[in-house]
Amino acid sequence: MILRHRYHMLFEFSELDWLFHDSEDIDAFLKRIIDLIYKHMNITGCSIYLWDESSEQLIFMASEKTVDQAPFRNGEFTGLNIRKGQGVCGRAIDSGSIEYGSKRRLVMAAPIQRGSIPVGVLNLERAKRPFSIIDEGVIRVLTSQLANILENAKLFYSGNRNSYLEPGQHSLEFSSQIILQGIAGAPGTAFGDSYTLDRQRSFTELRRIKYDKVYTLGELEKAIEKTEEQLLELQKNVEENLSDSASLIFTSHLLILKDNSFRTEIKTRINNGNNAPAALLAVTENYIKAFSESENPFVKEKVEDLEDLVQRIFSNMIGDSSAPVNVEGRVVISKSLYPSDMLMLASEKAAGILLVTGGITAHIAILAQSLKMPLVIIDFPDLIKTDKPLPILIDGQTGKLCINPGKRIIMEFQSIQADRQANPEEMMLPDLITSRDGTRVNLFTNINLIPDLEEAMRMNAGGVGLYRTEFPFLLRSSFPTEEEQYAVYKQVIELAPDKPITFRTLDVGGDKILSYYKDYTEENPFLGLRSIRFCLKNPAVFRQQLRAILRAAGKRKIKLMFPMISTMEELRSARVLVQECHEDLQMSGIPSIMPEIGAMIEIPSLLGILDHLCDEVDFLSIGSNDFVQYMLAVDRNNEKMSEYYVPHNPSVLRALNQIAEACIKHNVELTICGEMAHQKEYLPFLLGIGIRQFSVSTSFLNQTQRIISETSITEAEIIADAALEHSSIYEIERILGIS
Ligand code: PEP
Ligand code: MG
Repeated sequence: MILRHRYHMLFEFSELDWLFHDSEDIDAFLKRIIDLIYKHMNITGCSIYLWDESSEQLIFMASEKTVDQAPFRNGEFTGLNIRKGQGVCGRAIDSGSIEYGSKRRLVMAAPIQRGSIPVGVLNLERAKRPFSIIDEGVIRVLTSQLANILENAKLFYSGNRNSYLEPGQHSLEFSSQIILQGIAGAPGTAFGDSYTLDRQRSFTELRRIKYDKVYTLGELEKAIEKTEEQLLELQKNVEENLSDSASLIFTSHLLILKDNSFRTEIKTRINNGNNAPAALLAVTENYIKAFSESENPFVKEKVEDLEDLVQRIFSNMIGDSSAPVNVEGRVVISKSLYPSDMLMLASEKAAGILLVTGGITAHIAILAQSLKMPLVIIDFPDLIKTDKPLPILIDGQTGKLCINPGKRIIMEFQSIQADRQANPEEMMLPDLITSRDGTRVNLFTNINLIPDLEEAMRMNAGGVGLYRTEFPFLLRSSFPTEEEQYAVYKQVIELAPDKPITFRTLDVGGDKILSYYKDYTEENPFLGLRSIRFCLKNPAVFRQQLRAILRAAGKRKIKLMFPMISTMEELRSARVLVQECHEDLQMSGIPSIMPEIGAMIEIPSLLGILDHLCDEVDFLSIGSNDFVQYMLAVDRNNEKMSEYYVPHNPSVLRALNQIAEACIKHNVELTICGEMAHQKEYLPFLLGIGIRQFSVSTSFLNQTQRIISETSITEAEIIADAALEHSSIYEIERILGIS
């Protein structure tokens, strides 16, 4: 090692000048930094990571050793990002001091900091000679110099960075490979050209088209016919694959096509000398104006259908590029999506979805999971401004996305895909699930749509612990009739002939807004007319659902549970309605028996009346997602508040224990069906307080079963007791092993 001015400046000014002036992008710039470090130090490997404040991760930027550092590790697309505390680099950023990979001190990670603000980590490797105290001194000087340089470089190159780009600091020149960290929405990977779904913009584009010929009425009619055929085909697809949600999602499209006055108006304009596409556009614009001015939200909503329809006709008539293309195999980028859009995209076989919004998306994510549609969410609205299709790779498991992936990433992606196909993740669950020390545990599944249930049954799940019946409601354009609901529920019953099924009654409101109930708006929908409150205020809707469930169950004993119960009165009123529906059915000679009745514990007000509640229910189910939200007064969907959404808050844990104790005392069956039920940090605690029934979404069945079988109840009880003793979140994190 070679440094004359070892403890002064590592890089000379001429070198810095060279660094900044000749590097046209940050890749070249970092490469030069690495070259300089190589020049000054005797090393065999060097990598630079930058600290990303928003995702709280170290982002891999550059390395001289790439062989064992592909961004796919252990079958997961990691983008090489590292969390605090993870590996030697994660430890360095966490501790703020130099860390070594092992006792041999051949791998060193040095934090790069500006004051106490983390900037990144420099990772150095040597083949033989361990790093010494003297080396440490040199590295300290080096990293302090790098801190400033890198901070500047971050800003300087933020618009044109390869490999890493912060949402909010970006350019739209996506010409080189960019890896971004978003939020995981629904698992699965997709790779394809992007398609930007921005109906309004695409529709506006239609106005700019210069027609190169005169299109006849005959050509327009042919295009309309073709469009109709395509829509019917799409509709058929939905019906075959998603029978419970197969409301006529293309109804308004088809109705408009059949509308006589729409067609006559176009015809008249063509006869008066208009070019056919221009006539179609002019008439559509009149309709759009009328629809948008309507007071009725249902009519207003039809504007989008109309725009979509006309783009489809244009595409079939003149094949214009601004008209919608086939989204099959594409990664669809959109700012916001309705549940019905998701259905359309699924039926059109889009490869995946990139939602570029920071807004509320919980039910869209749940729907995407049920539709097996990979989904990544990222707060980066400018992404939809890209005009050209871009090759995009998304990983809904990790929330990563890669724009313009290079050959290496694509190859890794393809080999992972092949691997996943050869070894499907879903494995059969054993008939009997036990803890490590032999205690029996029931593992049920949460389902939203029929395909979830089919998958769960293939996996031998113990039954359905939560059927979110609102999903078919959310996907339709009007309240499904009793008959329509009956058909869906019958299918559910038949698909699980010998397993327990828990139907949860309609849980709408909050972020699950029915499009046909939009005239009712609230300032605080999560504290408003949600769930059981909505049902009790709309008894006709509630009765229809109850009758449909009871009829579908016939003489089979099912479980029926009410969401968001906050008082005994609500429970009793809901039960009375069930009883009445059951008696009505019996009087009409329709087979029906009273189901087991249960309540979801989602609102803390139940904690004070647990004994009474236990006296009046057959079972209880903890909806931990909402329970935590209401206990801690923190929006479960607001990413920016996620640091406050702490399920292991001591009060939450004590409340869960209180619920478990009451159920044990009164011999009432208890299940937990929120996200906590599959989380490895919470399962030992939940087992430790005596919960023996868990209901998780199909994608977590295998993982949950594995954790249960690895947990000893004796140890879990010790962990639970210890966690319950503490009032500090940090202490609890230590006990539960949460980093
Ligand atoms: C819950 O709140 O935990 C729950 C299971 O219900 P949902 O997620 O549907 O609100
Ligand atoms: Mg809930």
